[in-house]
Order: sequence, then C-alpha cells, then structure tokens
Amino acid sequence: MRKTMKTERLHVTEDAYVTASEKFVAKRGHQAMRHLIKDKLQQGDDMRPFYIANLDDIVNKHKHWVKLMPRVKPFYAVKCNNTEPVVKTIAALGAGFDCASSAEFQQVLKYGVETDRIIYAQTCKDPEEIKHASERGVDLMTFDNEDELVKIKHLYPHARLVLRILPQVQKAVLKMGKKFGCAIKNCKGLLLKAKELELNVVGISFHVGSSCLDAFAYEHTISLCRGIFDMAKTIGYNFNLLDIGGGFPGFETEEKLSLSEIAKAINNSLEKYFPEGENVKVIAEPGRYYVQSAFTLAVRVIARRVERPDSYHDDPSDRDDAQKTFMYYLNDGLHGSFYVHIVFEKHAPDFYLLENKDSMPVFQSSLWGPTCNPFDCITQEIELPELDIGDWLYVPNMGAYTTVLLSSFNGIPTPKIHWIA
Ligand code: PLP
Repeated sequence: MRKTMKTERLHVTEDAYVTASEKFVAKRGHQAMRHLIKDKLQQGDDMRPFYIANLDDIVNKHKHWVKLMPRVKPFYAVKCNNTEPVVKTIAALGAGFDCASSAEFQQVLKYGVETDRIIYAQTCKDPEEIKHASERGVDLMTFDNEDELVKIKHLYPHARLVLRILPQVQKAVLKMGKKFGCAIKNCKGLLLKAKELELNVVGISFHVGSSCLDAFAYEHTISLCRGIFDMAKTIGYNFNLLDIGGGFPGFETEEKLSLSEIAKAINNSLEKYFPEGENVKVIAEPGRYYVQSAFTLAVRVIARRVERPDSYHDDPSDRDDAQKTFMYYLNDGLHGSFYVHIVFEKHAPDFYLLENKDSMPVFQSSLWGPTCNPFDCITQEIELPELDIGDWLYVPNMGAYTTVLLSSFNGIPTPKIHWIA
C-alpha cells in the first residue's frame, strides 16, 4: 500500500486542507468537527466507531449540481449509501434514483418516489428481479448483451430499454469496463437484435468509472453516443434519453478534477452533440458525489505494538527512541468502513487526530483494523505522533461505499451514525 499521509497533512491549519464542497468541515473547520466528536463522546459511554453525517452537505451538493449542469437531471445511485435519511433527503430534493436491485427500487418507492424517477441501472439482472420491476412498473432499465434482451422480452416486453455502452476512455480510480458495457463495434448488432425482438430501446447510458480523473472521458463518450443515436435511427429507433452515468468527485482538493471542470466539458459536449432543441432528456447517475463529503468517521485506538530495531532484551536505557515504529489497531477496518479503500482504491483516506499533538515528534506508523484477518490493514505507512490506547482519530469524506459494506465479521460492532443538519 502506498504511503498515504504525511504528518503535515495532520497539522495543516484549519482550512488549508478542506475543500469547497465539504460544507461543514470547510466552513467551520476541523475545530468544529472536533467539538462535535467530543460532544458525542461525552454523551455516551458506547465506544464504537461512529459517523457524523451532515445532511446539509447533501443539500448543498444537489444545489451545486443543478447550478453547474441544469440540463442533466441527477439520478442518485442508491448503492453508494442507502441510509434512510440520505435517500429521503435526496428524494425530497426531487432527484431521480439509479437502483441496482428490486430491494433498492422498493426502498425509494416506499419514500413516495414515482417510477419515472427511477432507472434500474443493472445490465445483468436476476430474472426474478425483472419480474418485480414489471410488477412495480419500474420500466426504465439498462442492458448490454443479447441474453438480457431475451430475458426482458419474456419477462417485461414493454420495458423502456437503455443500451449501456463501453466508453473508450476510462481514466478513473475504479474502472468498470471489464464487467459492463457493450463495445462500440457491437452496438449495431445488439440494436438489430432488439429490433427483431420488437423491444423498445429509448437511449444510451455509460459509466466512465468511479472517481473519474479526466473530463475528456465524458466529452469523448458523449460524442460516441451521438454516433450511436444516428446509427439507431437507421434501424428505426428514435432515442430520447442520454444517461451519462456516475464518476463525479465526492470531495474536492486542489489535485483532483473538480465538478466544475467536468461540468464544463459535459455542457460543451451536450451543446455540440445534443443541442436542446432535439428534446433528448439527459440524466446522470452520481453516487459518491452526493454523499462522500457528508460523512466523517471517528475511530479509536484499541491496541498498539511498538516495534524497535534493537532487541527486546536490550537495556531499556540504551534504546534509541527515534528508531521505534508503531502499529496501531483501530476499532474499524477492512470489514467495516475501509473496505473500498483497502480492496479497490489501494489508498487510505486522510486521518486527523481528535486531540492536537502538533508539537510532538512523529514516527513511522501503520494502521490496522480490529479483526483477526491479517489483511485487515488500512495503511502500512503513515507518520503520526505517538498515540495512546483510547485516543480518537477522525476521517473526513467517508460517506461513499462505506455504510453499505459494513459487516460484523469477528463479532466486531459496526459504527453508529449521528445525523446533523
Ligand atoms: N451507476 C452505476 C451503474 C454504477 O455501477 C455506479 C457505481 O458503481 C454508479 C452509477 C455510481 O458511481 P459513482 O459513485 O462513481 O458516481
């Protein structure tokens, strides 16, 4: 695992590190977050890890999106964070939803979301789930292969279908092309098959990969979509839906591609290839954009091991303290909130100390999860001041693909969520 954090990241002044979209932390600084966490700690004796989840951040993200891309209606990807307050807030804001299963569309339907605000964006569906979609009238769904078309023909022949294509430019932290998306060269054959089956294909979707690193990926794929819209016309399809998927940043730093840069590229491409008069509805499926910065995780050091280059039996007075390194065991890890970071992103998020230890020397350290799994390691390399058992750290930007993946492996309790707004 890469080196993820330098001590100076820990000790930056209040607003130097945080970003525009992280409204709570950015506006009121780490000081406020520290107060909040301390407040929660004083309120109870439950020593589990916990999240501070700020619903205002989600509202602000939505407003920011609408301002930057008024033509692109967001369909929030429920898989990213399906906690009830999050989904209800986004429903109340009037956004649509990208659902990956019947459990997800039943959840949003329960909150009063109409079926025309749902896309069942899963190209390889369980036939049982297609039946549920048909029963509930969730008729807009994606496909990328012939077998799926045959299944849909039998189970939901009147569904409105969206062909998911494989973008040719995939510069993202998590690429999706191996599992999903019809290669451009195969689109015509697939659409001909759909026509032969008398299915109703209404548009195209794509996903450039999660945490996109290059706005050109959207630009290029939108231009490809234009070609497929035109080709589809020759087959007899008059598409009216373009779904530009997810991949938008969950929080912003100076190094990362910002939503405004992406929006600029998307708006220009839409103007060029899908001018407004054409009446093509444009939607997107943002997941991490909506929720990542809204959640801050607080974790506790539950154990530690001090490693020294000198032998254990050496005279303690001879030990060279500057050489020691620390292994810290936290009460959350691979089987909890850090699954995506450890398994997919191979990069730990930034950690901050609840109590400032600015003036203290720093040591090479590593952070481990609480389970017996030897791979439960959050980062092998981090510079930290000496921490004690019982010390708390916090981690901003933990709202995406975290709560949805929590397990209680080894009987370890999962984090609580404290909601603020
Ligand atoms: N749409 C689909 C089909 C996805 O599979 C995903 C994520 O896996 C998303 C949207 C959300 O992506 P992101 O969180 O990168 O915005």
